[in-house]
Amino acid sequence: MRTLLVATTNRGKVREMTAQLAGLGLELKSLGDLDPIPPGIEETGTTFLENALLKADHYHAMTGLPTLADDSGLEVAALGGRPGVFSARYGGVELSDKKRNELLLGELSGTPEGDRAAAFVCVLALVGKGIRQTFEGSCRGTIAFKPRGVGGFGYDPIFLDPGTERSYAELSLIEKTERSHRGQAMARLREYMMAGTIID
Ligand code: IMP
Repeated sequence: MRTLLVATTNRGKVREMTAQLAGLGLELKSLGDLDPIPPGIEETGTTFLENALLKADHYHAMTGLPTLADDSGLEVAALGGRPGVFSARYGGVELSDKKRNELLLGELSGTPEGDRAAAFVCVLALVGKGIRQTFEGSCRGTIAFKPRGVGGFGYDPIFLDPGTERSYAELSLIEKTERSHRGQAMARLREYMMAGTIID
C-alpha cells in the first residue's frame, strides 16, 4: 500500500477527504499521525491555489511523503468575496466556529434574502515525486439568517444548499459530498488517481 499524507489538522477536512479516498489502495496519514508533527507554514498566498501548493510543497519537503493539501473557504458576494482565503482567520484565529459564524451573520444583519449569495471554494494540491497537480471545486448557496444543524464544520451551519434550503450542517456526509466544493475537487482527484497515476 502506498502512503499518502493528508496535510491538514482540520478534523472536518480529514473526515471528508478520508471518506473520498477509500478504495484507492492508499494508506492515509494525517499530520497528527506523524511523530514529530512537522512545523506548519504561514499561508502567505493571496489565492486558494497558491496556499494549497504552499502547504503541499512544504509538507512534502518536510516528510518526503506524497502529500495532499486543501485550501478552501467561503466567499460572500455582499462582502465583496470576503472572508475568502482568510476564512480560517476571519475574526482572529482563536475564534470558535460558532463565534465566527455569529460575526458573519452580524455583518450581514441588514442584508435581505435576495442579496445573501455565497460560494464555497476548494483547491486541492497533490505533490509527490514528479507530481504537482491541483484540483478545484466550488458550490453556490446562500447565507442563512441563523445557524442550523449540528453536522459538518466551519461555516456549514450558516451555508444553505439551494436545492433543499437545508444548511450544510443538516446534510449527511454523503449529501454534503455530492454537492460541496471539496466533494467536487476530490472527485477530480479520484479520477486522476484512478487513471493509473503512481504517486510516490
Ligand atoms: P484553510 O485551512 O486555510 O483552508 O481554511 C479553510 C476554512 O474555510 C476553514 O477553517 C473553514 O472555516 C472554512 N471551510 C472550508 N471548507 C469548509 C466546509 O466544507 N464547510 C465549512 N467551512 C469550510
